[in-house]
Amino acid sequence: MMLDTATLRVALALVDLTLLMLFYFITFRRTRSAYSGWWCMALLLFLVGNAAYLLDGTVYQAWSNPAGNVLLVAGAASIWAGARSLRAPSPRPWQLAAGPGVVGVVSVFDHPATNIWAGGPMYLALMAVLIGMGSRELFLLERDYSRVHRPLAVGAGILAVFYLGRLIAFLTDGPGGAVFTSFFGSAPMTVFSTVTLVVASFTMAELSYEQQTRDLRARATVDGLTGLLNRSAFLDLAGNELRRLRRTGTTASLILADLDHFKTINDQFGHSAGDSALQAFAGACAGTVRSTDLVGRYGGEEFILLLPGVTPEQAREITSDISLRLQESGSEVIPRLPTVSYGIASTDAGPGGLDAVVASADAALYQAKTLGRDRAVVAAVGGTTK
Ligand code: GH3
Ligand code: MG
Ligand code: MG
Repeated sequence: MMLDTATLRVALALVDLTLLMLFYFITFRRTRSAYSGWWCMALLLFLVGNAAYLLDGTVYQAWSNPAGNVLLVAGAASIWAGARSLRAPSPRPWQLAAGPGVVGVVSVFDHPATNIWAGGPMYLALMAVLIGMGSRELFLLERDYSRVHRPLAVGAGILAVFYLGRLIAFLTDGPGGAVFTSFFGSAPMTVFSTVTLVVASFTMAELSYEQQTRDLRARATVDGLTGLLNRSAFLDLAGNELRRLRRTGTTASLILADLDHFKTINDQFGHSAGDSALQAFAGACAGTVRSTDLVGRYGGEEFILLLPGVTPEQAREITSDISLRLQESGSEVIPRLPTVSYGIASTDAGPGGLDAVVASADAALYQAKTLGRDRAVVAAVGGTTK
């Protein structure tokens, strides 16, 4: 049984509409991610573009045929924009409008009232180029970005090559030729598009699910106020790091920091000024240490740092740099920044694990507080401090 192109187009439109509704309500509304928005846009443009071709053979063909070309090329541009949004800012409006604009002009001047393939070569070339650019963007993402972007890139690549094949067959065989109508004409292309849209939508939904899981995982490890690691993430990472350092015989310093008389900052200037002071201290830490050091918010106004390859004496200098940077970071929101007390412990001090090193730094911190605050105390090996 041979189905005619119009029947196939109606079937494609129904599948496209179903996918659009499912994708919009289930995936886009939940994630609001740029690429799922672009994919909704592509599905909508393909739907309306294919519907415009249903008017071929009627009195409306003169405008509906070029409009179909414009809408489908705009759909391909949306695929490119969506793929690009995963690693770069969205393309500029003129970059998106260029392809649809060109195919619109060419089609209008190619006798669209009588020629259903008005602007055909330009349309096929732009579909191949824009979908190929989408495939390239997906290939440029790092290998471990997701489990599905590579198969999606291959799928888009195959679609681009298919459009290229259509263009070559169109130019060599003509739109009425046997090769073009059997392999690359409107009927086989409509079947191929239906399958592609279904597969791509499911793959995109999976990509969106993966992104959401990654976001949740990142949020579970980061302190919302300061952007530093939260306590449990810090302890996890620091535990692993300590085991690695001990295997390689590398020393490290652990610093516990506690803002002095922080309660009076809140009392005098308000809780949000207190929050700004915490952020300023986090910024001072992050701006002072190396990107490979670990910095976390241990609780309330206490912070914790693990500095591999750093001796306690070097750590003491680092704490003065942090305090200096904190005092220099003043803003109108916080009229007075607090001073900070630090307890420093070396990971070489004993055979104990991370807990023992933290306890040792905590004892040194307590001593810094009792000695008058605004200072760093290094825990001595054997339990006393200096
Ligand atoms: P000390 O010098 O002995 O450390 O005195 P302190 O006032 O800093 O210590 P204390 O433990 O008495 O008070 C800590 C205060 O930190 C109390 C609490 O309201 C405040 N705090 C804890 N977390 C936050 C936060 O997220 N935002 C703000 N603004 N304040 C916080
Ligand atoms: Mg405290
Ligand atoms: Mg305090």
